[in-house]
Amino acid sequence: MPKKFQNFIAGKWVDARSGKTFENRNPANWDELVGTFPKSGKEDVDEAVRAARAAHETWRLVPAPKRGDIMRKVGDVMVARKEELARQMTREMGKVLTETRGDVQEGIDTAYYAAGEGRRLFGKTVPSELPDKLNMAMRVPIGVAGIVTPWNFPMAIPTWKIFPALLCGNTIVFKPASDTPATATSLVEILLEAGIPAGAINIVHGGGAEVGNAIVGHPDVDLVSFTGSTEVGKKISAMAASTLKRVSLELGGKNAQIVMDDADLGLALEGLLWGAFGTTGQRCTATSRLILHEKIHDKFIGMLVDRVKKLRLGDGLLPTTDVGPCINQGQQETVKNYVEIGVQEGARIVTGGDIPRGSGLEKGWFFSPTVFENVKPEHRIAKEEIFGPVLSVLKTKSLDEAIHILNDTIYGLSSSIYTADVNRAFRAVRDVKAGIIYINAPTIGAEAHMPFGGVKQTGNGHREGGWTVYDFFSEWKTVYVDYSGGLQRAQIDNYNE
Ligand code: NAD
Repeated sequence: MPKKFQNFIAGKWVDARSGKTFENRNPANWDELVGTFPKSGKEDVDEAVRAARAAHETWRLVPAPKRGDIMRKVGDVMVARKEELARQMTREMGKVLTETRGDVQEGIDTAYYAAGEGRRLFGKTVPSELPDKLNMAMRVPIGVAGIVTPWNFPMAIPTWKIFPALLCGNTIVFKPASDTPATATSLVEILLEAGIPAGAINIVHGGGAEVGNAIVGHPDVDLVSFTGSTEVGKKISAMAASTLKRVSLELGGKNAQIVMDDADLGLALEGLLWGAFGTTGQRCTATSRLILHEKIHDKFIGMLVDRVKKLRLGDGLLPTTDVGPCINQGQQETVKNYVEIGVQEGARIVTGGDIPRGSGLEKGWFFSPTVFENVKPEHRIAKEEIFGPVLSVLKTKSLDEAIHILNDTIYGLSSSIYTADVNRAFRAVRDVKAGIIYINAPTIGAEAHMPFGGVKQTGNGHREGGWTVYDFFSEWKTVYVDYSGGLQRAQIDNYNE
């Protein structure tokens, strides 16, 4: 029997106030119902925000090392449940089991990092310009954090936000993507099992327009951390402006891999297959453009097509599957539309380009891994995020031109260059406009303890991951202690002799 899931608000598992529900189905087989979930609205969000606000008054006073101890337990529970969580994730969003295991592992890494950060959260002591005076700056919690997440990393992305937010002493109202609500519910169960108090974590399921909007617009939510499309990110930014809340936006990408004529082509090919078709191309860091030096262009395309044709589509739970389905029908249609646009623009399909039929794929949202050649920088398939298994190949004459093509997009998340020449590699490091660059490695593969985020319309300047995310989830408080026993005036006393 499919499970009936609920919201978790103010320490209780509850239905939506409206009593409405929505279904979550397996994208590899839409006959399979994963569960039904509450279709919540503003009234559910209001209640969750009230609970989070009340819980903040006690949670903020728990010493950070103690909050870190809970995070360590969170990591331990995730380790114990890793395989079960990975299987649940594959069922609800389709990516292959090795990748969903990696997704859970990223959450585990983030939990243990947060555990350690509980004993750091470093502030600074700084000399005062006046005698008998101590200056310091310390990190303090902010308040209620609204967390809005996408479906493509259903465990990793919520943990990137929720773990550091809690560790810093904030409380949470969490709205996961409605395509992956089961994994999100498991995450809440894990937090509770590890000892996060009632009210400090609240989950409200439902649509972006209803639940997401209600969180972002809520005057008592102090900050919003959002990962999703650039289009929705802009709306969130505009809406949050009315209450001047702090907003972190991690948005879309149009990432490129450059392969120079001196590169190890075998290595570049392995990286490309992983970067372009891993997670069915549905990663914000997916390689969706390949920029090939003209001297190796034809040879590399030949090698690439040969391998792409061998990729096996299917249910991600099967060990024989290389590439899972698109997340839903809408995404499959988007991919199909972009393929038609590419053809109309004059690009040439060298493999794929269709919805596959047969061999048990009829009941899933599959799309054949697709490669376009003869793509020009001005084509829409070279500029817009497709978010599917489609690779656009562009030809270049030189490193400068390759970098120019790579930078010619509104996005700036990840990038990659394959070359054996250290001078070329470091010129790319300097000149590529992206938050992340890989040398001789694919555009995907971020590690949890490193800063993660992009430039231009990929975000608004914040970074997740590692130590940098703690800047977003804490506020600096500056403390001056004057133990001189008299009035001392900064900027004046030292200059008034
Ligand atoms: P999306 O923008 O459609 O939705 C993301 C979340 O926002 C979902 O929970 C959704 O319900 C909610 N939402 C939708 N409209 C809203 C509104 N008006 N107000 C508040 N919330 C709203 O994105 P998606 O389809 O879930 O994910 C794919 C996108 O996410 C891609 O563009 C991808 O590049 C991006 N992404 C970025 C990163 C990153 O770190 N930069 C990581 C993963 C995914």
